[in-house]
Amino acid sequence: MSAITASPSTPMTESFSRAITASPSTPTTENFSWALRVHDLNYTYPDGTVALEHVSFEIKKGESVALVGPNGAGKSTLLLHLNGVLHSSGSRGAIEILGETVDPKKVHEMPDKIGIVFQNPDDMLFMPMLADDVAFGPINLGIKRDEVERRVRDSLEMVGLSGYEERVPHHLSGGEKKRAALATVLSMEPLVLALDEPTTNLDPKSRSELIDILKRLKDEGRTLLIVTHDVNAIPELADRVIVLNRTVVADGTTREVFSDTEMLLAAGLEVPVIMQFFQVLQAFGYPCDVLPLSIEGAVRNLTRTIANGDGHVHLHIHKHTHSEVDSALGKYQHHREAGR
Ligand code: ADP
Repeated sequence: MSAITASPSTPMTESFSRAITASPSTPTTENFSWALRVHDLNYTYPDGTVALEHVSFEIKKGESVALVGPNGAGKSTLLLHLNGVLHSSGSRGAIEILGETVDPKKVHEMPDKIGIVFQNPDDMLFMPMLADDVAFGPINLGIKRDEVERRVRDSLEMVGLSGYEERVPHHLSGGEKKRAALATVLSMEPLVLALDEPTTNLDPKSRSELIDILKRLKDEGRTLLIVTHDVNAIPELADRVIVLNRTVVADGTTREVFSDTEMLLAAGLEVPVIMQFFQVLQAFGYPCDVLPLSIEGAVRNLTRTIANGDGHVHLHIHKHTHSEVDSALGKYQHHREAGR
């Protein structure tokens, strides 16, 4: 028996933007090497707050990009432009998804190109049973029942919630809710998947489960835009990092962006802890031209260094070591003080 009871006539509100970004008539996308193009996007809130200025970037099909920036940098404002919820004369024509301009007037007709998983899953779960929430979007697209059922099954499986079809979404744990919210977007099979702080407020186990799911989506070649402060997760999840601070202040490979310490500090951001640790190791004489960004990278780096050193790593303390350690750590001092 199917647990799907949502009907296409279920009322929608603006926050259910996942349900209004799709239609079954997706045009061919073969001609575009990039999935998302933002070109000279500007946005000022009605009270005069300038949130976005001349924001431009492109994301290729199959690319996974992390969007980072301090609080108030305009990340949420940008996401709300991607699905047309926010718009103004300064943003007209600025967003293209697979070659089609996002037209805020036709947001209800927009093809199923972009799915946004918002930070708070409670904004996205509102039906009495989880299967209904996951079916809601596809049903609204007019998709046939069999196909809806397949999508619900596949989406719940993808997020590790098979067997949860009849569970009450609001009774799920924080981690389960985050995964459930992701399933409600996956079921629309969007060509671009944008996630706002997917690992925020999760305990370590739930965080790692979510990272594994995102890694799988990345490995499947999905186009991902991940807004996050979780710098330690970025090396696993993203090929590229865009730093937003009202405008794009950096855009490069994950390694390039994390190597620009001055820019990151100016933007109030940090680098992965493992990278900081290897900078300290360097002060102790560890030979390392390319700093690892992840634990896996650190293991590879150590293995190589030990192999090259005939089974040993030589570290030492000389008279400048402590000042070099202080200097390596001092670069990130404001983070430590902020975290106390
Ligand atoms: P982020 O998501 O990076 O923290 P936001 O997009 O939420 O940043 O905010 C960007 C800027 O716009 C901030 O200065 C914020 O105070 C302002 N802002 C956000 N929402 C509104 C609003 N509804 N009205 C006025 N200003 C807003």
